[in-house]
Amino acid sequence: MLIHENYSLRHYNTFGIDVSARWFIEYADDEDLSRLLRDEYFSHCKSIHIGKGSNLLFLKNYDGIVLHSGIGGMKVREEGDDIFLRVGAGILWDDVVIFVLKQGWSGPENLSFIPGEVGAAAVQNIGAYASEVKDFIHSVEVMDKYTGHGYAFAASECNYEYRYSRFKEDNSPFIITHVVFRFSRNQGRCVTDYGRLYDDLPDCPTPLDVREAVIRLRRSKIPDPSELGNAGSFFMNPVVSPQQFVEIQSRFKDIPYYSLGEQYKIPAGWLIEQCGFKGFRQGDAGVYERQALVLVNHGKATGADIARLAERIVEKVQSRFAIRLTPEVKYISAVAGPLVPKIFSEETDLQTFSFRLVIRRSDTPLRLREHFRISLREGLLVVLCSPDTCFEERAIQWQLQTILRNVLRDEAKRLLPVRLSMLAERHGFIYEDSKVNSARTRWGSCSGRKVINLSCFLLLLPEHLIDYILLHELCHTKEMNHGTGFWRLLDEVTNGSAHRLRKELKMKGMQ
Ligand SMILES: Cc1cc2nc3c(=O)[nH]c(=O)nc-3n(C[C@H](O)[C@H](O)[C@H](O)COP(=O)(O)OP(=O)(O)OC[C@H]3O[C@@H](n4cnc5c(N)ncnc54)[C@H](O)[C@@H]3O)c2cc1C
Repeated sequence: MLIHENYSLRHYNTFGIDVSARWFIEYADDEDLSRLLRDEYFSHCKSIHIGKGSNLLFLKNYDGIVLHSGIGGMKVREEGDDIFLRVGAGILWDDVVIFVLKQGWSGPENLSFIPGEVGAAAVQNIGAYASEVKDFIHSVEVMDKYTGHGYAFAASECNYEYRYSRFKEDNSPFIITHVVFRFSRNQGRCVTDYGRLYDDLPDCPTPLDVREAVIRLRRSKIPDPSELGNAGSFFMNPVVSPQQFVEIQSRFKDIPYYSLGEQYKIPAGWLIEQCGFKGFRQGDAGVYERQALVLVNHGKATGADIARLAERIVEKVQSRFAIRLTPEVKYISAVAGPLVPKIFSEETDLQTFSFRLVIRRSDTPLRLREHFRISLREGLLVVLCSPDTCFEERAIQWQLQTILRNVLRDEAKRLLPVRLSMLAERHGFIYEDSKVNSARTRWGSCSGRKVINLSCFLLLLPEHLIDYILLHELCHTKEMNHGTGFWRLLDEVTNGSAHRLRKELKMKGMQ
C-alpha cells in the first residue's frame, strides 16, 4: 500500500489542474483495501475514489483521502464460444481492448482508446460509436466502504443506463475491485453504422480495422490530454420528449438527433456550437476549436475557471433552446467532513439546527477523572472542561468530537423522524421506516425496502437544506435512481429549486 501526504493530483486529472490531496492512498489488492477500510482514522475521514481522473474536475485541493486502486491482473475463463475475462479495477480500459482484439476475439473495438481504468469504466458505463461497456459486463465485484463486505453484482443489478450505473450515485458505498467481462470468440458483425465511422472503413471490416478507424476519428476530434488538458465530452447529450423535440425542430430545422424509442437525443456539442462557443476562451479555460463539447485547460486554468465557463454555457443553451445541459464530468469539491470544526477549543462557538455549542474551561477542578461536564438546556450545549485541559492533545480532540457526535445523534433521533413524517404526509410519500446514523460521507440514503437513513450531521445544516435532504430521500421512495424522473419529482416538491439547493448543499462538504 502506498500512502502519500499532501500529494499532487496533477497527473491524476486529465484537465491537468494543479491541486493536491491531503492523503493519497493506493492499495494493491483486496486485502490491502479491506485493511484500510477497517482503519480507525480512515473511517472518520472524507474520501473519494479515483481512477485516472479523466472524468473529474477538482475545484480545490482535496482535504481528505484520495483512494486509488492498484489492483491488476486479467484472468481468462472459457465456456464454449464465450470468454469470461476477470480484470482488476486498476487496469487501463484500453489495455483490455488491446488484449481482447489481439486474441482474435471481438466486442469492445468501438470503445477503443477511451482513457481511464476498468473500475471507472464500469462506474461510468463508458460508451462511444453506438457501443456501451455494459454490453460486455457480466458482473462487477465490489467492497462496501463502510462495512468492508464484498459483493458481486450481475450486470442486470447494476442499473445501467446512458453514462449511468448504481455505482455513480452520489452516496454509493461501493468500491469496485474487479470487473468480469464476457466477450465472444466468434467475430460477429462489427457495429459500424454510426456517424462517420462507416465512411472510414474497408468492406467487411475486422475488429482491428474498426479499432484503427475509431482511433483516427477520436484523434481528429478530441485533443490529447497530455498536450491540452480536457476530460473528453464535458456535458451529456440531452434526451428530450417528442413534444419538446417538435417544438425545437420547428425553430431549428437542421437540428441533428438520434431517436431513442419515444425520445430524442440531441448532440450537446451542436447546441453549444449554435450558441457561438466553439473555440471560445475565457482566460485559460476554453472550448475546443474542433469540438464544442470538449472544454479545455489552456495552461493555468483552475477547476473553478472551468466550472465558471461550463455554467456560462449551460445558461446560454438554456435560454436559447430551453434545454438544461448536465455535466458528464464529476465536480470534486473539497471540504473534509461535514462542517464539524477541525479543532475544538475555548473559542468554539457552533450553532446547529437545535442547539449552540460552547466550550468553557472550569475555574475549579472537576471531579476525579472527570475531564468534561456536559449540559444541554434551552438550546445551549455547554461543555465544561477541567482547568488543566490541553486542547492540543489528540485524545482531548477525540473526546470532544465524540461528545458533539453523541449529542447530535440524540437530537437527530428526537427531531428528524418527526420532520420526515411531516414532509412525507405533506407531499404524499410513503416509506417503511427511518433511522438515524453517524455517517460522515452521506447525508442520507433510501434502501430498496424504503427505509430512510439519515445522518445526525444533518443538524449542522440550515433548515431549508435539511428539508431538501429529507425530500431528496423521500423522492427515492418513488424514483430509485437519479434519472430525469427523479429530478422532475424533486423539483416539484421543492418549488423548482432542486438544482439550486443541490449546488448549495455541495458547498457544505458531503455529497
Ligand atoms: C480525451 C478523453 C476522451 C474521452 N472519451 C470518452 C468516450 O468516448 N466515452 C466515454 O464514455 N467517456 C469518455 N471519456 C471520459 C472518461 O474517459 C471515462 O469516464 C472513464 O471511464 C473515466 O475513467 P478514470 O479511470 O479516469 O476515472 P475517474 O475520472 O478518475 O473517475 C470516474 C468516476 O469513477 C469513480 N471510480 C473510479 N474508480 C473507481 C472504483 N474502483 N470503484 C468505484 N468508483 C470508482 C470515481 O469516483 C468517479 O466517480 C473521455 C475522457 C477523455 C479525457
